[in-house]
Amino acid sequence: MLKFRDSYDELHEECGVLGIYGVDGASRHAFVALEAIQHRGQQACGIAVCGPDRRLRIHKGAGLVKDVFPDDSLSQLQGDSCIGHVRYPTTAVGGRENIQPFSITCSAGTFAFAHNGNIVNADVIKSSLESQGHLFQSTSDSELFAHLIGMKAGAEGWEQSIMSAANLLDGAFSTVILAQGALYACRDKYGFRPLSIGRLAGGYVVASETCALDALGAEFLRDIDPGELVAIGPEGLKSYRHSHHSGRYMCAMEYIYFARPDSDIEGCNVHAFRKRTGRLLFEEHPVRADIVVGVPDSSISAAMGYSEASHIPLERGLLKNIYVARTFIQPAQSMRDLGVRMKMSPIRSVVEGKSIALIDDSIVRGTTSRQIVRLLRDAGAREVHMLIASPKYAWPCFYGIDTGTSDQLIGADHDEEEICGFIGADSLHYLSAQALLKASCRTTLCTACFTGNYPTALYGQEQ
Ligand code: SF4
Repeated sequence: MLKFRDSYDELHEECGVLGIYGVDGASRHAFVALEAIQHRGQQACGIAVCGPDRRLRIHKGAGLVKDVFPDDSLSQLQGDSCIGHVRYPTTAVGGRENIQPFSITCSAGTFAFAHNGNIVNADVIKSSLESQGHLFQSTSDSELFAHLIGMKAGAEGWEQSIMSAANLLDGAFSTVILAQGALYACRDKYGFRPLSIGRLAGGYVVASETCALDALGAEFLRDIDPGELVAIGPEGLKSYRHSHHSGRYMCAMEYIYFARPDSDIEGCNVHAFRKRTGRLLFEEHPVRADIVVGVPDSSISAAMGYSEASHIPLERGLLKNIYVARTFIQPAQSMRDLGVRMKMSPIRSVVEGKSIALIDDSIVRGTTSRQIVRLLRDAGAREVHMLIASPKYAWPCFYGIDTGTSDQLIGADHDEEEICGFIGADSLHYLSAQALLKASCRTTLCTACFTGNYPTALYGQEQ
């Protein structure tokens, strides 16, 4: 009998960041762009604007962008440069003190800071600073990053202090900083999280995903490189390197699950990637079925690929209720079952009597997969063959994805046959790690949650 901790069975996005420089009505543009990356975090959001008087004004709160920013709040945020953030809490609990952007005052002035990712050596550095008398207001590793910048900005200048801090920190960060009217954007040396730059109305936009640039009508310029700091000010855009590390370890889960299908990550469109995983899944695991059904929304593109390669018709066998809050947490097993039924409905006339090739992006704890298989069987499906468009998820993530520890991952100590039995499918197949790389059209990715090969040291983090 398999047992798992009572937790909601979904991977959660980490966060999304945004920066705008030199664009009239920056906060209104930020509102549009943050809504475009809302899928990366729905727990809280905020915007910090640099006004004509060079003073920073910040508005932030818990909730969705449309709720935190009613119209009158945006009219208070006048200025042509800003940064913004959408948040799903990973390392820190969701207290108000952890909502970003942060505002920090140091000897060089006041600056605003927002960050996406997770710093793996944060505890080590923080303990050392605390023993020297430094005080922290929040439990967030983002505050540590901002604190390190503030410690040296007065003596070394903004560029050098950001690079010194980036050099000291290990792990995942895509960061935006607004200081003295200039915008800075920085990526960790491994390049775990995406960050792209575009041009808009004579100014610049930096965003976690290119879908935010598209939503603004901005022209894509390029991705910020791993280990790069970009400074945007009155003299235009300047590029610096805080690291010459040569590895590129974009998070595979960005392609598989997190990013919007219309985003391009380092030159690879997310929808096209997912379709390729579906085609490769069929090459590796051809099953006999009457219809292909994708678990909405993130698995629809992979299901299209599987259907095209197999010539098995793609059907809409499951419907997602988009009005159910993604953060709906159910206290008891019976309520969790209800939660999946509230979020997902089978279309009986489509699935009844059919053998189904069911495509999903991943299995984390297995409980949602089990409930979806049961929904389809209750609606009359004859067979359900589960096909996962990624390798077996077996290792926790330490780079900003909320998976918890190994005991919460069904793939950590169960093989495919046991997992298949637990979810109640007729068969279960995973995409190979080689096929995943092939679909990405690149030679390296972070695949630590599938392989256990972490690109960084883990500094004693629990596995
Ligand atoms: S461990 Fe997995 S989820 Fe975490 S960064 Fe690497 S690929 Fe992404």
